[in-house]
Amino acid sequence: MPTPLHPVGIFGGTFNPIHFGHLRIAQELIDALGLKRLHLIPTGTPPHRAAPVVSPEQRAQMARLAVQGHASIVLDEREIVRNGYCYTVDTLAELRGAYGPVQPLVLLTGADAFVGLTGWHRWRELFELAHIVVAHRPGLLSDAWQDAMPAVLLQEYENRVCHDVLALTESPAGRVMALTVTQLDISSTAIRRMVQNGRSPRYLLPDVVLRYIEEHSLYVE
Ligand code: ATP
Ligand code: MG
Repeated sequence: MPTPLHPVGIFGGTFNPIHFGHLRIAQELIDALGLKRLHLIPTGTPPHRAAPVVSPEQRAQMARLAVQGHASIVLDEREIVRNGYCYTVDTLAELRGAYGPVQPLVLLTGADAFVGLTGWHRWRELFELAHIVVAHRPGLLSDAWQDAMPAVLLQEYENRVCHDVLALTESPAGRVMALTVTQLDISSTAIRRMVQNGRSPRYLLPDVVLRYIEEHSLYVE
């Protein structure tokens, strides 16, 4: 038996702004899987969203501030630098190239993101490139989130599901695992709205991120 390899985690998001919901699932993934590293990857501007007032660089800067000094989370700006939107499948292929064919890679998504997976570019290839860990997100009932999957995705899920983190260390890609995480009903949308309405989002996100938002007058209109 080869020694199990510590997986590398990949967590992408708009992070507009990053908040404790994001940071907590990243930390719980690191601890549950014994990750050697987690790439935190702010997205470019997705085509299906209105161009945000906050720039990709500002979103990345807030994410950088949030994880500064963390021993295993690295801010990965590849999607921002590439200028324009890029697909998760391309980012995963790039990371697969960098880490080689054997290293287990684990893509972390919230349940709300995972149930929409069939809408992602070349979604079936994602399973060839990485494992996927799905973190429960408040709002989707803890067991009922699986009902929200379209039939084709449910079938992939059932073929690939595993219930033991060890399975994620024994192969480079292809398994799916649900991870029960501390439920924090926080969203970037709610934070943006609070700021807009003159209410404080304090204690929903790191103080250094809040300071950045205030200093740059983000989300006020
Ligand atoms: P928005 O409200 O702008 O959509 P968001 O809070 O959903 O922002 P995203 O950047 O869209 O944040 O999410 C990135 C990833 O983090 C997604 O996979 C999403 O499911 C997950 N996520 C976001 N917030 C939470 C949370 N509170 N608990 C668990 N997962 C979360
Ligand atoms: Mg979202």
